[in-house]
Parts: sequence; C-alpha cells; structure tokens
Amino acid sequence: MIVMKRVFKKYTRGPLALVNVSLLIEQGEFVYLMGESGSGKSTLLKTLYREEKVTKGYVEVCGQVVAKMKNREVPNLRRNIGIVFQDIKLLTNQTIFENIAYALRVIKCDERLIETRVLAVLREVGLEHKVNEYPGDCSGGEQQRVAIARALINNPSVILADEPTGNLDHETSVAIMRLFYRINQKGTTILMATHDSQLIEQIPYRVIELAKGKIKSDRSQSHVALLSNEKVKEYTTE
Ligand code: ADP
Ligand code: MG
Repeated sequence: MIVMKRVFKKYTRGPLALVNVSLLIEQGEFVYLMGESGSGKSTLLKTLYREEKVTKGYVEVCGQVVAKMKNREVPNLRRNIGIVFQDIKLLTNQTIFENIAYALRVIKCDERLIETRVLAVLREVGLEHKVNEYPGDCSGGEQQRVAIARALINNPSVILADEPTGNLDHETSVAIMRLFYRINQKGTTILMATHDSQLIEQIPYRVIELAKGKIKSDRSQSHVALLSNEKVKEYTTE
C-alpha cells in the first residue's frame, strides 16, 4: 500500500528533512507516525501525496510510483488518498454540505450522486444532522469529523492524517480515534502523524518513530527487506 525505500528529502534551505527512510505499510494497517516537532512527520506525509517531491529514493502509494510521477498524474494519485490536517481547513462561509461536496464538484459529478455521497459520509462520521449548518456552528471535534468525512468522499484506500487530534482535548481525541478505528475496520489503511504518546499508549497500533528525519524505531522494519530491489532500482530518482 505504502512503500518508501532509501528516501531523502532536502528543502532548498536547512538540513535533510528525511534521511534514508525505508518503510512498508500493508493494506489495512493502522500506523502511527511519531516524533517530536521538526522530526519530519509532515514532510514524510507530503511526499506520499506528492505535495513535496523526494530528493532521492523510491515512493509508492496504492500501486502508483510517486517518485517520478508527472504533475498531471497527481490528481489521479490523490483520488486514492484522503488527507486530514491538524488545522482543519474548512471553508467557513460554506455549509457542511458544500465543504464536503467540493471535491466532487471539481470533477463535475452528477448532483444527485453528490447528495447521496455527502450524506453517506456524514452518516459515517455521525453528523448527518449538521448537513446544512456552517463550520462555525460546530465544535472543534465536530469540525474534525467533517474534515474526516471530506477525506472519505472519494472512498480512498488510504487516509493520511497529520496530527488530526493536535488541537483537541483528550476526550475529543479519543472520539476521533474511535472514528478512525471504525474506518480502518472497513479496510482503509491509516497513517497518522502524532506526538500524543498518551493516545498511542491508550490505543496501541504499530508505531514508526522519526527523529531528525531518520527512522528511529519501527517494529516492522523486517518487512522492508522483502521489497523487490529490481523495482526499487528501476524507479529510484538520483
Ligand atoms: P514535523 O511535521 O515532524 O514537525 P516537518 O516535516 O514539518 O516536521 O519538518 C521537518 C524539517 O524540515 C524541519 O527542520 C523543518 O524546519 C523543515 N521544513 C519543513 N518544511 C519546510 C519547507 N517548506 N522549507 C524548508 N524547510 C522545511
Ligand atoms: Mg508536522
């Protein structure tokens, strides 16, 4: 589902943000990406949805090789990926319905289909009754659930969440985690960046820990050895 092999990322200024990162996440896994602020969590996620290009190395998401992807192929990649951010990024002057429908409008989806899909994802996050309200009428936790509904709209195979509980209190965070749990139970792969160790202890899943751009620990590193070297070599950018 997600493959990174010997990935390096250097921004135009500053030290390396990712240093020789290799990892393998299988379909249906739930994985925490842990590490202090500045350790490279957001950068790693951004290379997966091609917000940032890697400087060197191999990246594959949902069977698509991201490392050498052309810009015009990026929308196709993102159709398989749901993205959830810490700063929820809802449009405050649009209803919850419009906030979620947005991605489908862009691809000129049929109006009836849009309505069915939006209501279905809102039901999934338990917020059907908020459909005609505005983000300002929702609590922080509810807004994050709307953002998760928005991420689910394309029925993605993987969700990348960047500190989705970072601005929420513990109880609300646990409710968001329950929601991710249910989504994961239906088969969606989840990679979630967080530095909330209390949450990780309470709801344990595989943890990949980053420190200064390097993988510090990952109990499944042995998986990486199974990667086909041929394919990796073929696509690796130098
Ligand atoms: P985290 O999400 O774990 O806090 P980031 O991936 O945001 O870490 O940052 C990793 C490192 O890369 C930091 O040193 C940060 O300053 C640097 N960095 C992040 N984004 C940029 C950028 N757009 N330009 C230059 N440096 C960046
Ligand atoms: Mg970050």
